Amino acid sequence: MNHHLSVTVRVDLDLSTVRLAVTGCLTEDSYPSLLALTLRARSLTPSGQITVDLTGSSHVEATGLNLLRAAVDHDEDDSNGRPVLFVVPEPLPFCAITGAVATVSVR
Ligand SMILES: [Zn+2]
Repeated sequence: MNHHLSVTVRVDLDLSTVRLAVTGCLTEDSYPSLLALTLRARSLTPSGQITVDLTGSSHVEATGLNLLRAAVDHDEDDSNGRPVLFVVPEPLPFCAITGAVATVSVR
């Protein structure tokens, strides 16, 4: 089974805010897709607020989140873009796929 990532993009008509609502799994393998959408949002509204909302995610891998944040910060330096606001659930959720793998590896 694969970890699936789904993103719903909500854009205000005046482009003042863009919200990326993420569901599914943010992992080391899936973060590049979310990074591409985040950078696209930044180019869409260079002066607006971009929010990446992970509170609806079923799985957030710390490594994937850290790689995403580092890449967004790097782009911020290069493009003089506005900071991206990350809304992250605490503690980071992990999905049944990870739990099943962990259970098998413990035996
Ligand atoms: Zn997952």
